[in-house]
Amino acid sequence: MIPYGRQQIDEADIAAVTEVLRSDFLTQGPAVPAFEQAVASACGAKHAVAVNSATSALHIACLSLGVAPGDVVWTTAVTFVASANCARYCGADVDFVDIDPLTYNLSIKHLAEKLDKAERTGRLPKVVIPVHLCGQPCDMAALHELKVRYGFKVIEDATHSIGGKYKGEPIGNGRYSDITVFSFHPVKIITTGEGGMALTNDAELAKRMQGLRSHGITRDAADMTQAPDGPWYYQQIDLGFNYRMSDLQAALGLSQMQKLDGFVAKRHTLARRYDQMLASLPVVTPWQHPDGYSGLHLYVIRLKLKEISRTHSEVFDTLRQAGIGVNLHYIPVYLQPYYERLGFRKGHCPEAERYYAEAISLPMYPGLTAEQQEQVVAAVREATSA
Ligand SMILES: *Cc1c(COP(=O)(O)O)cnc(C)c1O
Repeated sequence: MIPYGRQQIDEADIAAVTEVLRSDFLTQGPAVPAFEQAVASACGAKHAVAVNSATSALHIACLSLGVAPGDVVWTTAVTFVASANCARYCGADVDFVDIDPLTYNLSIKHLAEKLDKAERTGRLPKVVIPVHLCGQPCDMAALHELKVRYGFKVIEDATHSIGGKYKGEPIGNGRYSDITVFSFHPVKIITTGEGGMALTNDAELAKRMQGLRSHGITRDAADMTQAPDGPWYYQQIDLGFNYRMSDLQAALGLSQMQKLDGFVAKRHTLARRYDQMLASLPVVTPWQHPDGYSGLHLYVIRLKLKEISRTHSEVFDTLRQAGIGVNLHYIPVYLQPYYERLGFRKGHCPEAERYYAEAISLPMYPGLTAEQQEQVVAAVREATSA
């Protein structure tokens, strides 16, 4: 099976992890701050907080922005469940914005309409979480105008887009948002096995997230309610978690960072080849907005079902049977039983549902060979032929 995504590990990565294994610190050593520094400087952000997953990063990002019961957080309907769950962990309500039919990202038009209504009913969101789906950046400048006008905070779910750019600047620099979150799961652009990171330019937010990732404990006398009892002393000043990243993971991440630009460039080469090879088939290939340089985590095609005799799920099955590990990113989150129990129903975001009825993610990762790509396209041709 050719998977839809997979990691790219070389000898330098293995040597970096081995070096940590032979050192004094498997966790809470020097590798984590070195990795944080590398990502912050590559992205042009002032602070970076490494954690054990992007899900944890989203959680402490929400908490650090004060998300609490009674608040509402909005995200896009087409994303992984973690983009919405983070608000639920904080006891907040969630709502979903429909997608743009071209980029499949959160639609600025729908967002603006929804904000206008919410202002009148007094239920404006505290935080909006745009997702750079497949790695393609959202229209952050337009989102920022709405942020200023309505006063919400923005967490960029950039789990698909480390290494990408928006208007020529690296995603993660925080020009249009409060916090940016990356994932280092093996299918994402670079990996630490499991891992995530939250970037911000706000020292106060960074400090809060650093506390929350490690039990809410401080060893800084300036933050304590009394003078330390002695050199062993620490205080728990918040209810935090153990969301720390280990040094083994950070060493892998630091080694992977050196290959980031090459990985993304390779993804672009693969995408251009797919674009050309799929042009004559009854599928819609991804549209790229000229303002963005995508991280290209995913390559999603949409089936022109009117021109195909098989159904969406038959095409999907045919591809899987041909050894192509296609996938579907994503089921509209509000259609998950957990969210249906909260009152969401089919029809909430019609554009997201149209997308869901047609989308298929083709294999996309730096190690994908030209022959494998030809095999994928041949299978798509076969599966969609009349
Ligand atoms: C992968 C992913 C996450 C969660 O990342 P983890 O590191 O696995 O916790 C969150 N949001 C989106 C859109 C993702 O694709």
